[in-house]
Amino acid sequence: MSAASEVKFLLSVPQKIIITTHQRPDGDAIGSSLGLFHYLKKKNQEVHFISPTDYPSFLKWVPGTEEVLIFEKEKAKCAELVEAATLIFCLDFNKLYRLDELGRFIENSKAPKILIDHHLEPDGFPSFQFWRVSASSTSELVYEFLAEMNEDKVIDPVMATCLYTGILTDTDRFRVPTTSPAVHRIVASLLEKGIDHTAVYGNIYESYTENRLRFWGFCVTEKMDIIKELNAGIISIERPEMNRFGIQLGDTEGLVNYPLWIDHVKVSALIMERQGEVKLSLRSKGDFSVEKICREHFGGGGHRNASGGTSYTSVKETKEKLISILALQKSELNPS
Ligand code: 5GP
Ligand code: MN
Repeated sequence: MSAASEVKFLLSVPQKIIITTHQRPDGDAIGSSLGLFHYLKKKNQEVHFISPTDYPSFLKWVPGTEEVLIFEKEKAKCAELVEAATLIFCLDFNKLYRLDELGRFIENSKAPKILIDHHLEPDGFPSFQFWRVSASSTSELVYEFLAEMNEDKVIDPVMATCLYTGILTDTDRFRVPTTSPAVHRIVASLLEKGIDHTAVYGNIYESYTENRLRFWGFCVTEKMDIIKELNAGIISIERPEMNRFGIQLGDTEGLVNYPLWIDHVKVSALIMERQGEVKLSLRSKGDFSVEKICREHFGGGGHRNASGGTSYTSVKETKEKLISILALQKSELNPS
């Protein structure tokens, strides 16, 4: 039996279902989870979507966000729901530590766990996997999962809007190499459901506060270091600078891409302070793997061209460490 048939079988009886995703969820985490959430509700299943933490305001319009439970705000209630669960869907993450404290509750649950994900090197916790690194997004995989269960016909405009949001954001607006012909076919079928794709774009990319845009300008003019011999661009920001602009959760999403706009830049990084830690976001063009750097040096991971990690030193020291790591790969970054 295929994994889809097995899960379809599990869903043929009433279950107590939890959907969860990674902390500080992005558009794909929210879009894929809510797309699946609406599907399971439509099938009359009891379902709760628990996010480990809050999510950015540019996603608060996605249909169903009013029903999202935030673990860090309602720990006891969420823990009880996880304990009572008979089925757990784990979306858009590869390792339980990405759920922070919620990960322990998920790990301790005896309920079968279904992973739907596209990140490199997943942990061994899932009972069933819909996992493909070449997938553009978890939202694409949710669509495939529904299609494999012969349930894609159930997709309505609300579910389609959620899945479209995940695909749009994780492909960075249909730009990244994983944007395959199959992705465009899925998107075509989502548009045929009657979604307003221009409104989705506007809600995500044309909803900045003035401060957010001015902060981005400040980062590009004042805080971006272009290291020519390494074809690298690094934006590093201290907390007081973020405070000056009133930067909120999600306001830096996408900023890491800016150095890559320069033709010779092959790798870019955003380094910033977050809750007593230093968070790194790395991006690259072509074959250069930032996943390897994040995994080996910053306790993180992700995808070849888009990865993240954490450092426990200062922003300045983290930047120096990153430059020394990139310097070891100079022959790859600057072969001439
Ligand atoms: P971002 O730089 O936007 O935070 O993340 C880029 C990609 O790397 C995303 O797919 C994200 O899920 C993944 N990622 C970010 N931080 C971590 C981390 O600490 N560990 C792992 N395994 N993946 C991460
Ligand atoms: Mn994703």
